[in-house]
Amino acid sequence: MRASYHTHSRYCDGKGNLEDYVQRALELKWKVLGFSAHAPLPFETEWTLKKEDLPLYLKEAFMLKEKYKNEIQLYVGLETDYIKDTDINIPEGLDYYLFSVHYVRTEKNDRLIPVDGPFDMVEKGIQECYDGDGKAYTVDYYSQYREMIRNKRPVLSGHLDLLKKNNKNNFIFNEQESWYKDEVEKTLKTVKEFGCILEINTGGLSRKYTDTAYPSPWIIEIMKEMEIPIVLNSDAHNPLWLDTAYGETEELLKKIGYKTQRALYDGIWQDVPIG
Ligand SMILES: [Zn+2]
Ligand SMILES: [Zn+2]
Repeated sequence: MRASYHTHSRYCDGKGNLEDYVQRALELKWKVLGFSAHAPLPFETEWTLKKEDLPLYLKEAFMLKEKYKNEIQLYVGLETDYIKDTDINIPEGLDYYLFSVHYVRTEKNDRLIPVDGPFDMVEKGIQECYDGDGKAYTVDYYSQYREMIRNKRPVLSGHLDLLKKNNKNNFIFNEQESWYKDEVEKTLKTVKEFGCILEINTGGLSRKYTDTAYPSPWIIEIMKEMEIPIVLNSDAHNPLWLDTAYGETEELLKKIGYKTQRALYDGIWQDVPIG
């Protein structure tokens, strides 16, 4: 069973209307689809919902849910940021929330580095706030990710190693180094402890930022050993990318030993076969 609970329409930083995603999902013969616009932040951004658009997004999403209820199950959610020491107000009572870290808050200069922002912004942030030390930045990222899990206890949390998007040529860190593995393992332990579902995200692949899904295959192997439940999501920013790289990623998941994934279906998160 295929699905994606991670999609971005023109309401935030994606292309296409919510209904275009529904149409695409129907073409793919999916039985379920989730909307997860970027929730508004306390400051203006180019990529989140505008505060005034939030009610419009919710109204349209719930209207579509009703309109298509005999053809496909639609779930209305938000991708919600966790930013250290920042209150982010999100409406309660939605079908689900996908929690992600897109900003690292730095101690020095108290700045927010956009994790998946343009490379030069990340580079500048590491220079100015970490004296060029990519390891210190990476350690802060994972520490803030763990803080998100502990403080928000999300059902579903997003793109664990998003920071590899800007790590071409190991500019920030080397995944093979033991300190990096330690940070990842520590974070997976927290995920396990709080019973969180981790997404396998093909968004980096569809936009050609990465060669593999988030998280990297060796991380998925540890997740399997720890029996952390997963959801395969596309993080599609275009309806045409709704199932990008699903075939190869499902193969990888099966090779690692995952036979099932979680799906929000008939109103509850349940185990369904992969693919
Ligand atoms: Zn995200
Ligand atoms: Zn996203």
